[in-house]
Amino acid sequence: MRVVVDLAVCQGYAQCAFLAPDVYRLSGPEGLMYDPNPSDQARERVSRAAAACPVKAITLEPTHEPTHEPTHRPTHEPAGASDA
Ligand code: SF4
Repeated sequence: MRVVVDLAVCQGYAQCAFLAPDVYRLSGPEGLMYDPNPSDQARERVSRAAAACPVKAITLEPTHEPTHEPTHRPTHEPAGASDA
């Protein structure tokens, strides 16, 4: 997950910093600092913080993680089907 905060929209309400202080931090009157690549362990808190932002300044983007989709599987003929 990737975090993007539109700092032009952010009003410094600090809801995000309250809910996920390890990811969002206010460092000054209206200066929000944040970790754009939070750990998987922080994922739920990061999502809650994004939902709680009163001005919807936080966008969460999926990262391109490797998927575990099955690769092409060869088909197998039933045993003994070709020898008659
Ligand atoms: S909750 Fe929204 S407005 Fe408040 S500091 Fe976080 S990003 Fe900014």
